[in-house]
Amino acid sequence: MSMLFDKKWQYLPLVMLLISILGGLFFLNSSLDKWVTKTIKSHLSGLTKDVVVHITNDQQYLATLSSAARHNYFSNLSQATKDKRITLIDAEGVVLADTSLSYLEMIAMDNHLLREEIASAFKVGVGENIHFSSALKVDMLYVAQRVILDNEPYVVRMAMPMDELKTMSDELMWIFIVLLSISAAAMAGSSMLSAYQVNHRVAKEREQQEERIMHRTKEIELLHRLANMLAACTSIAETQKVVEDIVPRILGEINGSVAMMRASRNQLEVKLDWGKPWPATQVYSPNDCWALRKGKYHLSNDDYHCLPCSHMAELGSDQTLCIPLTAHGNTIGMLHLYFGASSVVVDPATLRLAFTVAEHLGLALANLSLQDKLRSQALSDPLTGLYNRRHFEQSFDTLLLEAKNSQQTMTLMMLDLDHFKRFNDNFGHDAGDYVLKEVSTLIVQMISADDVACRLGGEELAVIVPNRSVESAFELANRIRKQIAELHLELKGLSLGKVTVSIGVVNYPKVQGDRDQLVKFADMALYRAKEQGRDQVLAYQASTAEYSCEEAKDKKELGNKVVTPLLK
Ligand code: GH3
Ligand code: MG
Ligand code: MG
Repeated sequence: MSMLFDKKWQYLPLVMLLISILGGLFFLNSSLDKWVTKTIKSHLSGLTKDVVVHITNDQQYLATLSSAARHNYFSNLSQATKDKRITLIDAEGVVLADTSLSYLEMIAMDNHLLREEIASAFKVGVGENIHFSSALKVDMLYVAQRVILDNEPYVVRMAMPMDELKTMSDELMWIFIVLLSISAAAMAGSSMLSAYQVNHRVAKEREQQEERIMHRTKEIELLHRLANMLAACTSIAETQKVVEDIVPRILGEINGSVAMMRASRNQLEVKLDWGKPWPATQVYSPNDCWALRKGKYHLSNDDYHCLPCSHMAELGSDQTLCIPLTAHGNTIGMLHLYFGASSVVVDPATLRLAFTVAEHLGLALANLSLQDKLRSQALSDPLTGLYNRRHFEQSFDTLLLEAKNSQQTMTLMMLDLDHFKRFNDNFGHDAGDYVLKEVSTLIVQMISADDVACRLGGEELAVIVPNRSVESAFELANRIRKQIAELHLELKGLSLGKVTVSIGVVNYPKVQGDRDQLVKFADMALYRAKEQGRDQVLAYQASTAEYSCEEAKDKKELGNKVVTPLLK
């Protein structure tokens, strides 16, 4: 069946039509000859009757004419033309007049009584025949009719050359052929035109279909790539690079951003954007977004409303779209798209793509925050929130390498709470924990963002201080010591008394070594500080392999010994 729809079969109806036209013409040709002969016969018969009436009326006059004049009389009849021959034959078969012959030729003609048409006319009144005319040397069609003139029977015969009939039938045939050719050409033309139009439309449709498939395949590939790349991101900075590269390839030149819900869930902050820098508010309350309130996407302008979100106030009534990003049933952020003028109509395909992008972003960002949580859990101490020993070691190595490569300084403080055991013994383990937490919080508040505070175990803490002069780092250690000593610790209304700390300090590059060596030197300074009475800062000096200290000027005021390095 499908064979019939093959392109090479498309002209089959045309070929069939041509074959049937040729067959029809062949049939027509033969029946046309018969039809023309029949028509001419009846025409000749009519003319013969006219002649009969004419000569019957003139019979008395004819009787007065000589045979030559009679011959001329017939030649002058209006029915006698060049191609229509009239002959008058008497009952003896003698030709008395013939319009196609001269008088002399006429009288020389043979007896016509045995001519079939003549015999039939004398016998039954009419006769007809086609035969060769020995006088004119052509095939002729004869129609004869009996006539009584002066009580004597005669036959009037009209004849016409068959050539004439053939010419007429050929002319008719040609008219048919021309008409048929014109209609066949018109039919062929229109069928070829419609076949061309159909083929053209099919080809165009196929082209569009292929284009749609290619476009869809590219979209799927891009979405797949977006999902893969987002899954591979380990930080928000990496996620930014991925979205600004891939999302415009999916959504086109549409300015967009992603705001993430803060842990407190009372604010959203724009963390990612693509296209141009995000032109609307960077931080906003969940109440400012219709989509968050509805729990469903919000297009600012459609056929039924013009309601922009408050957090897009900068964009006036322009066309914007907000899609909540959800993961595991929670709204974790919001995808924003800015289309420009309020009249921009967002087509369903763009909406569908935006939803898919939002889905991928939601899952990726949820994974990222989970990764962050796990990473920080793996690297932080649950009691104090400080980094743990693992992170201390990693950071130390990284910062030391950086310091070595960029000729920077790096200071390590090792801290140990003095007589910490007493807190546990006197107030219980919870009080000890509380003291540890308070001291840790204070340290975090006092250090800068580049510094790394860690709990190495028990009540032993460490602070890595990169890129700070030795004096400044030592001064920081002393400030920490003083602030801790000034803490007023109370738990459940009970004063826990004072807590002090001893600190051992080592500075790279004043003291050279790897992590283990530098930690060991800082520990040595710390133990020396303990030995020397606690609540003091002592720095390890590489040049003398000793510990340096200096009496504090405010010793009296603090009631403590303050230790500073001898900076030579
Ligand atoms: P020193 O001035 O010589 O450092 O005296 P210290 O009592 O601080 O030192 P020591 O090493 O003798 O005691 C440390 C105590 O810290 C022992 C342990 O019970 C307590 N400790 C260690 N980790 C924790 C903790 O997580 N919570 C509480 N509450 N106590 C802890
Ligand atoms: Mg200790
Ligand atoms: Mg201690």
